[in-house]
Amino acid sequence: MKLVFATNNLNKLKEVQEMLPNSIELLSLKDINCFDDIDETETTLEGNAKLKADYITNKFGFNCFADDTGLEVESLDGRPGVYSARFAGEPANSKNNMQKLLVELQDKAIRNAQFRTAIALNIKDEKFLFEGICKGEILTKKRGAKGFGYDPIFKPNGFNQSFAEMTSEEKNTISHRGIAIQKLVAFLNNH
Ligand code: IMP
Repeated sequence: MKLVFATNNLNKLKEVQEMLPNSIELLSLKDINCFDDIDETETTLEGNAKLKADYITNKFGFNCFADDTGLEVESLDGRPGVYSARFAGEPANSKNNMQKLLVELQDKAIRNAQFRTAIALNIKDEKFLFEGICKGEILTKKRGAKGFGYDPIFKPNGFNQSFAEMTSEEKNTISHRGIAIQKLVAFLNNH
């Protein structure tokens, strides 16, 4: 069965393909000749994931899944959440996003936060949602040089390293996206 992952991130694609049975052939947006800019206009992670998956299924007819991730900070009532990529404005810039978050949390005693990933799957005319959460805290200074986005200032609970100090294998086993993908893969393996 062919299944589209609504992404052009080849690292994400490879990671998921390796976890899937050989009977599922994972395709990227490029593989199906989709070069459209799919605007993430919804106000929730689930809404944006669904919007992307539905766009592909409706326009191209494929079984498809899409993901959306946000960083939800307790002291900021869940912000930046669905707006994480452009927290400090356009164009999206991780360094500015982290700086803005560190400034907003300067006087806050509670630094709890969680990364949350929503995955929307359209398969054989049915729709499913999967969620992955990684709880942790926002550090007061950046630590580490690996990863991307907010990784240098996020420390998952139960670990002494920030995400940016972990190898991608270490991060993938405990991360929000890793957990959501594990749920998706378990579902596809049994479907
Ligand atoms: P996306 O939905 O995967 O594109 O994620 C939206 C935004 O959330 C990204 O632009 C990053 O700023 C942030 N983000 C998502 N996943 C991670 C992660 O694993 N580490 C750090 N930042 C992330």
